[in-house]
Amino acid sequence: MSDIAVVLPDGSELGVPEGATLEDVAYEIGPGLGDDTVAGKIEGELVDKATPVSDGDRIEIVTDQSDEYLSVLRHSAAHVFAQALLRLYDDAKLTIGPWTEEGFYYDITGVDLDEGDLREIEDEMQEIVDADYDIERVVYDREDAVAKYEDDNEYKLDILGREADEAEVSFYEQAEFEDLCQGPHVESTGEIGAFRLLNISSSYWRGDEENDTLTRVHGTAFEKESDLEEFLTMREEAKERDHRKLGQELDLFSIPTVTGPGLPLYHPNGKTILKELEEYGESMNEEYGYDYVETPHLFRTELWKQSGHYDNYVDDMFLLDVNDEEYGLKPMNCPGHATIFEQNSWSYRDLPVRYAENGKVYRKEQRGELSGLSRVWAFTIDDGHLFVRPEQIESEVNDIMAMINDVLETFDLDYEVALATRPEKSVGGDEIWEKAESQLESVLENANMEYELEAGDGAFYGPKIDFAFTDALGRKWDGPTVQLDFNMPERFDLSYTGEDNEDHRPVMIHRALYGSFERFFMVLIEHYDGKFPLWLAPEQVRILPISDDELGYAHRLKNDLEDAEFRVDIEDRSWTLGRKIREAQDDRVPYMLVVGSDEAEAGTVSVRDRKEREQQDVELDSFIDHLSDERAEKREEPDFLD
Ligand SMILES: [Zn+2]
Ligand SMILES: [Zn+2]
Repeated sequence: MSDIAVVLPDGSELGVPEGATLEDVAYEIGPGLGDDTVAGKIEGELVDKATPVSDGDRIEIVTDQSDEYLSVLRHSAAHVFAQALLRLYDDAKLTIGPWTEEGFYYDITGVDLDEGDLREIEDEMQEIVDADYDIERVVYDREDAVAKYEDDNEYKLDILGREADEAEVSFYEQAEFEDLCQGPHVESTGEIGAFRLLNISSSYWRGDEENDTLTRVHGTAFEKESDLEEFLTMREEAKERDHRKLGQELDLFSIPTVTGPGLPLYHPNGKTILKELEEYGESMNEEYGYDYVETPHLFRTELWKQSGHYDNYVDDMFLLDVNDEEYGLKPMNCPGHATIFEQNSWSYRDLPVRYAENGKVYRKEQRGELSGLSRVWAFTIDDGHLFVRPEQIESEVNDIMAMINDVLETFDLDYEVALATRPEKSVGGDEIWEKAESQLESVLENANMEYELEAGDGAFYGPKIDFAFTDALGRKWDGPTVQLDFNMPERFDLSYTGEDNEDHRPVMIHRALYGSFERFFMVLIEHYDGKFPLWLAPEQVRILPISDDELGYAHRLKNDLEDAEFRVDIEDRSWTLGRKIREAQDDRVPYMLVVGSDEAEAGTVSVRDRKEREQQDVELDSFIDHLSDERAEKREEPDFLD
């Protein structure tokens, strides 16, 4: 007898008795799957296999073959760390210890650790792993749980207080250790094949600067030793490529204390790259029928009240008083664009209207969170806002996806797509949500695009498609998004006259191709290790005269290359050729032209590239032809030389 039905990943429904857990569902699907079940997902959220399912839940079973298994394993490694820590330090206090993209961390207090202590803790962790303790989920009444922490751990009490609507809470236990935790976890500590504690940083309780400072110990774990080794190698490489380090070495940008935190300055080299990115984005916007608009950095807060930012976002805004009136730096470009649309009257024939702006925005992130170009106070979004009729959503989103695909392909960034649907709290009627979601879905289906469904993860104002891309080091980044918005048109009372001569609300689409230029730039610096493809390289060609006798010839070459609009410099310091080459190599200049008396006489050049490939006696014209092709194709490392 089936009381309720759950939805399986393939969309089919399965009837199960009321009160069934995820593990029961797995056994219902097949006994083999039941035995292999480690955990599960309900509506996209990773939970313990003992979690009961409800009617209509979208569920997924997690086994040790699933991608999510690694997260489960890492969270168990965090517990092993905590257990080892408590064995070694009586006064240590645990707060929270989740898994992360690169492993796990645990925020602790009551103990003064430095990196030297981590090896000893690792040894203790190894003992716990070798002992292969069973990890067991135990459910307590709330009062009993509170009693456990009442005397000595105000943080765990705080967590318990926040979950006050639940009568029971779960703990996970292994040997003498227990931790308040929602799980899920692996079966036993022996499943953790390889782990490493990585470093220590500081954090705030609940991420709030007003709260206590905590010690954050970062670690990672894998199933196999070889995976850990690979990770550590990549991590070293990532340190070498750190954009803050390369940003200084290549003179791209700086964030000096005197100008304020999170307020980057672009030096000429950095701005050259940004300009190329801007122009590429602009050429694409032009092709797809966008009109450029421009809005100031500052608006009366009246506007932010109308848009809803003042209610939801005011803590992140920079506000100022001018003649007793309150103004705010813009945290987003959308309200400005909605206001421009509102200044006109529109007929259905005019839509879609597409506005674009590379708009600077300001968000007051916590100072502790600021880091290089990845988290800043001032950044520029290549924003686009479209005002469309509901039936135009599909074709417009299709075009936007094509643009995003072009952009990510240009930079050799693989990506994954997710469709985020209506959250519990949302604005807009059922009909328009259903229509919008099904339109986004059919865009993805028609494009034969594989995508993950993130049910309930949409913005409160509309569903969205998220792109996450992977860089050359295998790291994942949040990328471009396409968001439908039913809210802002409402708040700004936007309308157009329909075929029926009645007023209708347009749907607003927010989109960005790069997202924030600052973050995209940061990713590119590290993705390319500073070896930007020719079209982006601040200095594309460096001419290396062997002696001063060739300076005149070098200048003639420079002129010819500049006529073809290349960025060229001459190395005229009296260095040896070897040193000139090394310097150009360090500066990651794509091409070097070595010119001596033979070349000057024959009117040719010797070409060298960053990969140390060489070719002699090249006619300048044919070199310029190659260069022009390479620049136009925007590709990385073409094989001009071999
Ligand atoms: Zn836990
Ligand atoms: Zn927007």
